[in-house]
Amino acid sequence: MNKPFDIDLAVKLIDEAVRPFPKAAMFELAEEGFNSPFEQLIACMISIRTYDEVSLPTARRLFARARTPAEVSKLTVAEIASLINTSTFFERKAAQIHEIALRIIDEYDGNLPCDSETLLSFPGVGPKCANLVLGIACGQPSISVDIHVHRVTNRWGYVKASAPEKTMAAIETKLPREHWIDINRLLVPFGKHICTGERPHCSTCPVLEMCQQVGVKDHR
Ligand code: SF4
Repeated sequence: MNKPFDIDLAVKLIDEAVRPFPKAAMFELAEEGFNSPFEQLIACMISIRTYDEVSLPTARRLFARARTPAEVSKLTVAEIASLINTSTFFERKAAQIHEIALRIIDEYDGNLPCDSETLLSFPGVGPKCANLVLGIACGQPSISVDIHVHRVTNRWGYVKASAPEKTMAAIETKLPREHWIDINRLLVPFGKHICTGERPHCSTCPVLEMCQQVGVKDHR
């Protein structure tokens, strides 16, 4: 019989457990100083369907050339594409990034506002990236659910949802607000290295006693 799931304790235990592992890409970039809403938005777009190991140096390469809407708008789409060509769908992303930079200059005087509706109005930007920007760059409590957050919280039995968007809505109704930003920061490395997609490391997992291991058929 599992103990009831104690989210405060889980956050504390997972915070300790993920310390040896690389940070989630967006948090790593923020620590390096790429923490403006625009930089976080562009880095998140670069990271879509791209491994962190690839998207981190790709974002750094673009930012070394241009890191504000004004600087990015002066590049051609082809130049942006060649700077981010290690990212998946780089040609489409380059056109979207260029369009976003131009719109920020035209409509927002060159400064991207911390506003969910604005972020979601841009091409290629969904709730995951919008919420990461709001959480990391703007300090607004917001939950970003990627595949790791989705898989882990469903395995815990904390939520029961069939897709990341549904998990996000379910978590919003029960996760205390003080954990809203941290849940992504913690569960991305936790999902990559401990509660892995295939054969999670349950035997050494710090939250095993309270986890329902929903859907886990084989583990280490
Ligand atoms: S006990 Fe297993 S399924 Fe549950 S969180 Fe830990 S690694 Fe994941």
